[in-house]
Amino acid sequence: MTFDIVTIFPAMIEQPLAAGIVGRAIAAGLLDVKVHDLRSFTTDRHRVVDDVPYGGGPGMVLKPGPIFRALDAIEAGRGRPLTVVLTSPQGRRFTQAEAQRLAGVSAGGGPVSPVSPVSPVSPVSYVLLCGRYEGFDERIRERATEELSIGDYVLTGGELPALVILDAVARLLPGVVGDEQSVADDSFSRGLLDFPQYTRPATLTWPGQAGRPPASVPKVLLSGNHAQIRRWRKREAVARTLERRPDLLAGATLDEEEQEILRELKGATDERD
Ligand code: SAH
Repeated sequence: MTFDIVTIFPAMIEQPLAAGIVGRAIAAGLLDVKVHDLRSFTTDRHRVVDDVPYGGGPGMVLKPGPIFRALDAIEAGRGRPLTVVLTSPQGRRFTQAEAQRLAGVSAGGGPVSPVSPVSPVSPVSYVLLCGRYEGFDERIRERATEELSIGDYVLTGGELPALVILDAVARLLPGVVGDEQSVADDSFSRGLLDFPQYTRPATLTWPGQAGRPPASVPKVLLSGNHAQIRRWRKREAVARTLERRPDLLAGATLDEEEQEILRELKGATDERD
């Protein structure tokens, strides 16, 4: 999988990508990321990428010319058709399901079957276009395969959205996150929030705790009983989702045990009501 990111602020992309899991994956060649300075695709002496909007009004608009030239150069360089993602608050909402689709993996972590309605885009050469100012000249949308928004708020540029999209997709690719089970367990991966985690020490006291008992790790996690731990984690994941994000449950893929836990928990709340 390759990513080409087009931006007027390459440093905003390069520096975050140098660190952490994604940085390691790039260094290991698990994914190929190139950052392109939009200004290097201008033809004028002042390397201008924006212009005033037709019809008047505030702000500046990204010109189509430099972006079209950038796309042509990237396509020639990659030697295959591009999947062009335009970052925009007007786009379809980027979710874990969208990340799975772009990564070409199913919710369970395996490859998406060819008959799946959310088939992976293949061959996979993504371009992420980072907008600035008032956004893109509308005609740039014609060269975009899709338009994605990372949420209902407006940022000053597409660099953070591009990093968000790249990061969420990259960590789903085989080998990027060391333990694939941890990715499969993550919040949203099957429509459930993740279960709570604890690490040492087993009991914790701190100055502001006055009068309260020491904060302890749930006993079951110290029991060494793996069947019980598994069951406890499932219950916590289902209970948390029911409490915090009941909207997710409608689209969740629950196994029989989880369905039973959910029925039980719902029964308990119904009785209380
Ligand atoms: N006037 C535009 C917003 C421009 S914000 C509008 O109302 O639609 C400038 C750039 O920041 C956009 O072109 C886009 O690349 C990026 N951006 C801002 N908010 C975003 C969001 N929620 N998701 C994805 N990209 C966003």
